[in-house]
Amino acid sequence: MLLPDAREEIVATCQELSRSGLVVGTAGNVSVREGDLVAVSPSGLRYAELTPELVGVHRLDGAAVEAPLQPTSELPLHLAIYAARPEASAVVHTHSVAATALSTLVDEVPAVHYYVAMFGGPVRVAPYATYGSEELARNVVKALHDRTACLMGSHGAVTVGPDLVTAHDKSVYLEWLCEVYLRACSAGSPRLLSPEQIAAVIVKLAGYGQRPPGP
Ligand SMILES: [Zn+2]
Repeated sequence: MLLPDAREEIVATCQELSRSGLVVGTAGNVSVREGDLVAVSPSGLRYAELTPELVGVHRLDGAAVEAPLQPTSELPLHLAIYAARPEASAVVHTHSVAATALSTLVDEVPAVHYYVAMFGGPVRVAPYATYGSEELARNVVKALHDRTACLMGSHGAVTVGPDLVTAHDKSVYLEWLCEVYLRACSAGSPRLLSPEQIAAVIVKLAGYGQRPPGP
């Protein structure tokens, strides 16, 4: 089996997204790139039934290499992101509630909290286009410019990372940020941080995070 670790990680992440409520039903999709290959969750399968063998492996041009099921309908989106972002090795797409609600209201999630620095700055909302379309893929790639997350108008959210753990963590933080912004807006007009304040956090975050001591 090709990319066994990536496929196993995709199953675990999809099931975690489902458990944590960032996706409902069969919504959302997840991929990991390794070299010239992309492992991606299949279309329309309940996550409880997903196994590593059912996670498809495709080439970067979309051709199936080892895929027993149809890939997610958003495969063009995943492939367009990998083509535009050589540093990205994982993509997580959710329909999480706060992000999706906000995607119907604004063109950008502004700097209401310093966490926007985690995504490179205020998070843009890609203009709506039909799901699975090349147009949506183009809109998302544009909205992701210099960022590691964007919302998709009247649809959901996308995060990218150098690995799946990072991309998944970002989807959780993004949902939190969107929830905070929605709640703040419901009570008044939130104060915004300046670009300089966000830039200072971006510098600080570059050295943030620890891993357990290795063997
Ligand atoms: Zn979607």
